[in-house]
Amino acid sequence: MSEPLLQVRDLRKSFRVPGNKNRLCALDGITLDLNRGETLGLVGESGCGKSTLARTLMMLERPDSGTVRFDGIDPYTLRGKELLKFRRRVQMVFQDPYASLNSRMSAAEIIAEPWRSHKGMYANRKDRDMRVRGLLDLVGLGAKAADKYPQEFSGGQRQRIGIARALALDPDVIICDEPVSALDLSVQAQVLNLLNDLQAQLGIAYIFISHDLSVVRHVADRVSVMYLGRIIENGPTEAVFDRPNHPYTAALMSAAPKLDSALRQERILLSGEVPSPLNPPSGCRFRTRCWKATEMCATTAPPHAVDPDIDGHAAECHHPLLSEGMLATA
Ligand code: SF4
Repeated sequence: MSEPLLQVRDLRKSFRVPGNKNRLCALDGITLDLNRGETLGLVGESGCGKSTLARTLMMLERPDSGTVRFDGIDPYTLRGKELLKFRRRVQMVFQDPYASLNSRMSAAEIIAEPWRSHKGMYANRKDRDMRVRGLLDLVGLGAKAADKYPQEFSGGQRQRIGIARALALDPDVIICDEPVSALDLSVQAQVLNLLNDLQAQLGIAYIFISHDLSVVRHVADRVSVMYLGRIIENGPTEAVFDRPNHPYTAALMSAAPKLDSALRQERILLSGEVPSPLNPPSGCRFRTRCWKATEMCATTAPPHAVDPDIDGHAAECHHPLLSEGMLATA
């Protein structure tokens, strides 16, 4: 298999909080790979660090430590034109199609906006107009939409404009941050299908951030589960959903709707709130909410527990569920 497009190793990021002596630890040793043309789902409760990770990969935040390799390049060493060129390669689609588009700009102006800072791209007006029309076609809106303003479109259509804007710079990766959560169910399916078609056509990789597990199951090839700044389980989507190895993943998945009755299980209710990232628990970060916690979980960071049957499926836990034959349904 070829090298992953994106390799993240032990990435850490913390923030100073005014009036507090502790730093807020948003990312605590994130390691992940993203292959070309695949979709990696990123799930977890709000505040788990998904958005900080997205911002760091977009180069909007600088990590405290750790490494990122994008197509063999360390993007944090780039400056000036090289950095600008690199930024083109990772784009974002935002959650709220109402707030993310400037209501005073036409669809054509919104889509062409990224080319203002990438002056070499579509500098000629005729090329630019043609490319805008091409992108509008690509996202299913058609060239007639070019002169309309955001308020003249429905939510789903606005999100299509957001996707066209992300595509304008021919990226290799698009970070989709809850891209359908503000849309009606029927429209969600249309936008997800569009993302799927674009991936098949253009070979783009997606990092798909969502709290909606059924959406992630539908779109992701692999899934990483985040809890309090760490990835506590990752693997192929089916493995993570159907045979979770970490108690937190099992609790999340037990709440996800399942069509296949053989895969249904009793809902695992978690007690308590996610602890503050200003003062995370010692040992395993999940221990304050885990029904399987032992003394060791309070003193020692958990090791990687590998699923013996599924390549690339691993969890961070002292007492992984699969080792006890629990919850494995596959
Ligand atoms: Fe629970 Fe311990 Fe595993 Fe953490 S290491 S998830 S506390 S059993």
